[in-house]
Amino acid sequence: MNHALEIRSLNVAIEQIPILRDVSMTVPAGKMVGLIGRNGAGKTTLMRSVMGLLPFTAAHLQADGQDLRKLAPHQLARRGISYLPEDRRLIPALTVEENVLMPAWANGIADHAKRLAWIYELMPEVKEFRERRALQLSGGQQKLVALARALMPGHKLILLDEPFEGVAPVLSRRLTEVIGELRHQGMSVILSESDDTHSADLVDLVFRIERGVVSAG
Ligand code: ATP
Repeated sequence: MNHALEIRSLNVAIEQIPILRDVSMTVPAGKMVGLIGRNGAGKTTLMRSVMGLLPFTAAHLQADGQDLRKLAPHQLARRGISYLPEDRRLIPALTVEENVLMPAWANGIADHAKRLAWIYELMPEVKEFRERRALQLSGGQQKLVALARALMPGHKLILLDEPFEGVAPVLSRRLTEVIGELRHQGMSVILSESDDTHSADLVDLVFRIERGVVSAG
């Protein structure tokens, strides 16, 4: 069986300081995996490496049977792999819908109309404010739109970097619902968090990261 993601012996060093050390981790297809570790443990660095956004070495890095080391970021997007950064700024002058469509334009995603309809079904509130400019939204609304934007390419595997960080309780509940629905629909997800607060009820399995070292459980 092809795993949604398989990482073996991934290493990252920045200015010769090891940041990730011999990381191995597997995301089974259709499962949600928690990546739990304190600030500075290396969660963002791991996600950015998988997305090909920073230099790393790895014995093996495959998604759905494909070697990610050979793919550029836009090729990952076209294969349904996407990332919600912790710093998920929208383009303020563009409308909500334009922000959500941006990755489709940037990466040449052909079925964007179908994907947009799916996203609006998943998050009707985003559809409701689709014509507003991003700068007119509250912080909480912007977070939902950033997730919607990440879902434009991300229909197979999505990496969510601390999506609950700094989020008010009402929105956390809504985010939990939406993320739970992704898993219900068979997407594979990595969800990072600094502790287990929000992810405990969502994830199928957990990896812990401490000072750049990942362990199961
Ligand atoms: P946070 O929630 O704070 O982002 P994190 O678990 O995502 O935490 P990373 O952002 O991946 O952690 O950072 C891991 C370690 O790598 C930290 O010690 C950080 O200081 C270091 N680091 C990350 N990027 C750089 C960089 N460009 N230069 C130097 N050190 C860096």
